[in-house]
Amino acid sequence: MANLPILEIPNPILRKRAKRVRSIDKKMLRIAYDMVDTLNAAGGIGLAANQIGQLWRIIVLQMPEEESSRIYFNPEIIKTEGTREVEEGCLSIPNYRGLVTRSVSIKFQGKDYSDNIVTFKAENLLSQAVEHEVDHLNGILYTDHLVAHSELYRVEEPDISHTNEDSSNNNDYLNSSSTIELK
Ligand SMILES: [Zn+2]
Repeated sequence: MANLPILEIPNPILRKRAKRVRSIDKKMLRIAYDMVDTLNAAGGIGLAANQIGQLWRIIVLQMPEEESSRIYFNPEIIKTEGTREVEEGCLSIPNYRGLVTRSVSIKFQGKDYSDNIVTFKAENLLSQAVEHEVDHLNGILYTDHLVAHSELYRVEEPDISHTNEDSSNNNDYLNSSSTIELK
């Protein structure tokens, strides 16, 4: 397992569409576990395979209240409901945040590491995270969903005094109005 470098814009791989995973074999599991290590080292909430230069439909999520990371292969959003505005960031676009439009809730389907089909309905941070990561697999970045061009802001480098507990300053989806209960 390895903590890999996270690609940043304008790397063209971030704009490519990732391929479906045909079989969840050792190679795919290895990529997924490397993604978990990379995500956790970065202190983020989600990571898509494109972000480590692998064009396979794999996402990993580390929800703040959950002990272990979620790993999904061939994730799909099969239904969305409503729209809302939330603040978002991305590990591939360091030191920026933006106000974007996301769904209020989604219905999700994907496969877990044991090749089982997983479906769930999500709202709040989980819904936002899934939409953000599935977008990555389609070459889409959150900056494509800005409410307005003026709604992208630069944020300061993380203050060292805050980095031990809260590595959130440049990471994914924090201070979203829907997620204040989480952090
Ligand atoms: Zn991202």
